[in-house]
Amino acid sequence: MFNSPQLFNRRSLLIVLSLLLSAGFFATALFGYHVSRQAIRDTLIGQDLPLTSNNIYSEIQKDLIRPVVISSSMAQDTFVRDWVVNGEKDVRAMTRYLAEIKARYGAFSSFFVSERTGAYYTADGVLKNISPTEPRDVWYYRVRQMQEDYEINVDPDLANHDALTIFINFRVFDFNHQYLGATGIGLTVDAVRKLIGEYQNRFQRSIYFSDAAGRVVLGGKFDKPMLDLRQQPGQGVLIDQILADRSGSYQYEANGSRFILHVNYVPELKWYLFVEQNEDEALAEIRYTLLINLAISLLVTLIVIALTHLALARYHRRIEEMATTDKLTGLLNRHAASFLIEQLMLAQRRTPQPICVLLADADHFKHINDVHGHRAGDEILSGIGQILKSALRASDFAVRWGGEEFLIVLPGCHADEARNIAEKLRQRVEDLRTNAGSEQVGTTLSIGYAEYRPAEAMEQTIARADKALYEAKSAGRNLVRPLLPSEAFAG
Ligand code: GH3
Ligand code: MG
Ligand code: MG
Repeated sequence: MFNSPQLFNRRSLLIVLSLLLSAGFFATALFGYHVSRQAIRDTLIGQDLPLTSNNIYSEIQKDLIRPVVISSSMAQDTFVRDWVVNGEKDVRAMTRYLAEIKARYGAFSSFFVSERTGAYYTADGVLKNISPTEPRDVWYYRVRQMQEDYEINVDPDLANHDALTIFINFRVFDFNHQYLGATGIGLTVDAVRKLIGEYQNRFQRSIYFSDAAGRVVLGGKFDKPMLDLRQQPGQGVLIDQILADRSGSYQYEANGSRFILHVNYVPELKWYLFVEQNEDEALAEIRYTLLINLAISLLVTLIVIALTHLALARYHRRIEEMATTDKLTGLLNRHAASFLIEQLMLAQRRTPQPICVLLADADHFKHINDVHGHRAGDEILSGIGQILKSALRASDFAVRWGGEEFLIVLPGCHADEARNIAEKLRQRVEDLRTNAGSEQVGTTLSIGYAEYRPAEAMEQTIARADKALYEAKSAGRNLVRPLLPSEAFAG
């Protein structure tokens, strides 16, 4: 079909539309993601991590209170003090006492260290003699000097294959307040470890303790005990600050992930409790949602663009049709014809071919209007339009040239073929009948034809066809006429 210059650039409209839509969707999805991410982050920092930290802290405190009470009663025990004052004679009596305490309270170990003899008594007998030069015995000399009644100390336990143990070290005095030694029980950290494991599994968080030097003492993502947190990527530079703050929230990046960290100081143990969340894991769900949203946005954009494209194409075709077609006859209008003729002339310059034009005019049409009414005239014109359309080949085109005048262009057609076609059209219109009230009315066509001559303008060919039409009218109408040779070059 005929291509008119476009009223608007459809492609750029679609591009702008899809850019606007996808930018809108993208911005909305990203904004939503951003808000959710901030909310999750805030909840982690403000609630989740501190809550986990506090739960573990209070659990530990609860676990520590009972052993302190037990160790305190050991330090006050008259048997212990009498036994020491009386010269630590029967080792088995002390051993039995320690074994009973250990069994009764489910402790990991129980001990008494004598100031006078330096003997380290356990439930299994004398373990060893302590010495000021032995690094493992440092704790005893610290306890002996300290002001407080007791301390809580975490150390590997020699009596139990060096398992990490929380010791309650109580100072023991005789009845005259003379220092006799240290006693207490040791607790395995297994309970704490189990608790940490549960919390880690439940919340996908890493939970661990460091000592005051920033070394990992227990738990978490660290397999290596006593690992130096200062050496950890991202986190390392924060450690001095964390140890100084004693508690707070921190964020750092390591190995391409962001981490949110909550730290609490546990004074009873002189440990720092770290609760850490990999933000990527916490955000995995909303990242997934973001992807789904983006995919939906893309799909909706594509659908909208496709529908818009279809609608525009349809309207465009309609507008084009309206702009190029004569409404009454369905034939091309003059505006469209001049464009098509232009195209034909361009093609003619590349590959010349014979072209003929017919100019047809309805006979005595004024009379038909006058007698049968304008509406009947219109119907006849519309019928002529249908005849022209149906009789022509795809490369031909018919134009409503004036009121009841038609131009037919026949590319690739010699004069004698044109004559045959014109004759056929004349015949068909002659046979056409339209109802006008009770009457059947029709009209006839006078047709002039001319062949295009090389290098002339199409207007000249049409002018010759017009002259031929005049000949047909003069000769009596309802006739097909070429331009007479005598007049062919007249101008
Ligand atoms: P002839 O061509 O045979 O010499 O006579 P004619 O009566 O056809 O010639 P004329 O040019 O005098 O009249 C043309 C008439 O066609 C006049 C006009 O009212 C009528 N006409 C033009 N366009 C239309 C149209 O769209 N509808 C109708 N009903 N009539 C039209
Ligand atoms: Mg006429
Ligand atoms: Mg006329």
